[in-house]
Amino acid sequence: SYQRQQLVLTAWERSRMNADVKFGKRTSLPISMQRKSLPVYAMRDELIQAVRDNQFLVIVGETGSGKTTQITQYLNEVGFGNRGIIGCTQPRRVAAVSVAQRVAGEYGCKVGEEVGYTIRFEDRTTAKTRIKYMTDGMLQTEALLDPEMSRYSAIMLDEAHERTVATDVLFALLKQAAIKRPDLKVIVTSATLDSTKFSEYFNNCPVKHIPGKTFPVDVLYSQEPQMDYLEAALECVMQIHINEGAGDILVFLTGQEEIDTCCEVLFQRVKNLGNSIGELVILPVYSALPSEVQSKIFEPTPAGSRKVVFATNIAETSITIDGIYYVVDPGFAKINTFNSRAGMEQLVISPISQAQANQRKGRAGRTGPGKCYRLYTEVAFREEMLPNTVPEIQRQNLSHTILLLKAMGINDLLHFDFMDPPPKNLLLRALEELFNLEALGDDGYLTKLGLRMSQFPTEPTLSRALLRSVTNNCSEEITTIISMLSVQGVFYRPKDKQQDADNKKVRFHHPYGDHLTLLNVYNRWQLAHCTEEFCTSNYLHYRQLRRARDVKNQLHTIFKKLRLPIVSCHGDPDIIRKTLVSGFFMNASKRDSQVGYKTISGGTTVTIHPSSSLYGKEYDYVIYHSLLLTTREYMSQVTAIDPNWLVEAAPHFYKIADDQSESRKKAKITPLHNKFSKDQNSWKLSSIRASREKV
Ligand code: ADP
Ligand code: MG
Repeated sequence: SYQRQQLVLTAWERSRMNADVKFGKRTSLPISMQRKSLPVYAMRDELIQAVRDNQFLVIVGETGSGKTTQITQYLNEVGFGNRGIIGCTQPRRVAAVSVAQRVAGEYGCKVGEEVGYTIRFEDRTTAKTRIKYMTDGMLQTEALLDPEMSRYSAIMLDEAHERTVATDVLFALLKQAAIKRPDLKVIVTSATLDSTKFSEYFNNCPVKHIPGKTFPVDVLYSQEPQMDYLEAALECVMQIHINEGAGDILVFLTGQEEIDTCCEVLFQRVKNLGNSIGELVILPVYSALPSEVQSKIFEPTPAGSRKVVFATNIAETSITIDGIYYVVDPGFAKINTFNSRAGMEQLVISPISQAQANQRKGRAGRTGPGKCYRLYTEVAFREEMLPNTVPEIQRQNLSHTILLLKAMGINDLLHFDFMDPPPKNLLLRALEELFNLEALGDDGYLTKLGLRMSQFPTEPTLSRALLRSVTNNCSEEITTIISMLSVQGVFYRPKDKQQDADNKKVRFHHPYGDHLTLLNVYNRWQLAHCTEEFCTSNYLHYRQLRRARDVKNQLHTIFKKLRLPIVSCHGDPDIIRKTLVSGFFMNASKRDSQVGYKTISGGTTVTIHPSSSLYGKEYDYVIYHSLLLTTREYMSQVTAIDPNWLVEAAPHFYKIADDQSESRKKAKITPLHNKFSKDQNSWKLSSIRASREKV
């Protein structure tokens, strides 16, 4: 997959240039006509009246009916924008940005003026902003400082059917805020028809249905299960392109790597087709893509050619592409799941639910009768797929969310008004993690450290390392490393130049491992004035490094706001590693000659990932950033440490074993299970309840 990425870029470059030329003169309706042609327009007055008459309102409508782009504007047109900001949350960053750009265009302003957006690490709003799109995570963070949402006149929780953790938490927070703010309007919009549940939750509020104009879609199932769904998808696209009538194709894949690979492979195959068959324009959509490329997907296809869009499940509901007649659905999505065996959150490619499959199918019937190719059998659809997607709050690591709730003074999590409460074991894990990080005290209340940690938008482990970097005088280095960790895969290996790429990569390697290697990469890129040439000649992804630089700037802005200094330890590897240990001591492994490594706290067998700079090295103790489950359990981003640092950083978590047979020099570290397990259960329960009586 490394190899292919580079090729893809060049291939896209070409196909994009092509697309630029062709899309140059496009004909479409004037904006005011487009707006009036949307299904939601027929209900404009009815919706406005319903918002005026009710504090809560649920709106259900087909994807593409105009909920996201129009309702905020309607409210602004009748004066809500004068009383406060009209906010609209999106579960995904890309959707927030792309919708804000579209609405700014319709409104006739620049992004950041009357219409703006805020996503993590990027704020494009000003004092002028009346309509603000944002990720649900951002509004959740705002609630920490302003629980009454005093800057807003109306808030639309969009894409509520996605049931992200942040949207679920916002349901409860806004229900709470509404009591103190009788003038605040809360609108919940959803693409699916789960409306009774939503309405009941919001005090039996009214539900408005936007009648959709949809056409029938033929569903074609695979006769037998597909072994390789990427190959099956590519074959399906070729078959449609060659044999079927006009109309664009939408293919659902699970992530950037798959999409890049398919774009490239298809590009090569189409090239060999010859001139008798119309042109196929290949376009990718995923969240890491720059917005110039993304806006391409919305442009109409020139006559005589066809476009195929490879997208993640972002195109299921949050983004609507017109002109799609064919949907290819392999039936998978990448979802974030808490793996209780590994004690870690993992991205896992999993089968989608029936509801998702039907949503995907619906994308083919917006412009005319369509076809949906399901690359799985009808039996698999009926018997192996769950009817509905499990809400994220019931499967994800909740430590960051709980830290925020605790920081808002919400301590009684058992009685918090969740629409669907998280399972107890997930709550307990999160509480335990926060306790281990010393963000929570024995009483289950937030500590001073916990309060400071809650002010960072990062996972609690990273927040702790960030705070420790201040006392250890290495905040410059740690912010760089954390920025580099937040972008994925800076190195690439083109197939025909693997050796050269590997040689170049080794030059960045730090003997102690990946965190310091990432620091080397960033610093040398900066020394080379952050040029693209430096990246090209060293087989580094320029785009990822630029993103890392943006993230770093944002972290520095947060430091400034919190009046924390940015100081450098001049690259001192021990100080940097100790600081990392203060956040990641729970992710420590000890070498075990039989099996590679074993995690210290769980005893899980793990291996260093072959892409790590520590691969093949023989250090006794390491920390890792994350676990990756493929054929084996791999540690990724690994750094060698001195075991004594574990005890120093977390004396409440580790102790030095009093094992006499062990050689003196090699300290043996064991987790403090004894002390813990005795009163662990009582502690856990009490902290969930967290002294209701005191509140
Ligand atoms: P909903 O939220 O109901 O799914 P939207 O308000 O997102 O619908 O979209 C309504 C219509 O606006 C879409 O059908 C599409 O035609 C158009 N549209 C939305 N975003 C863009 C964009 N970025 N560029 C061009 N057209 C867009
Ligand atoms: Mg929408």
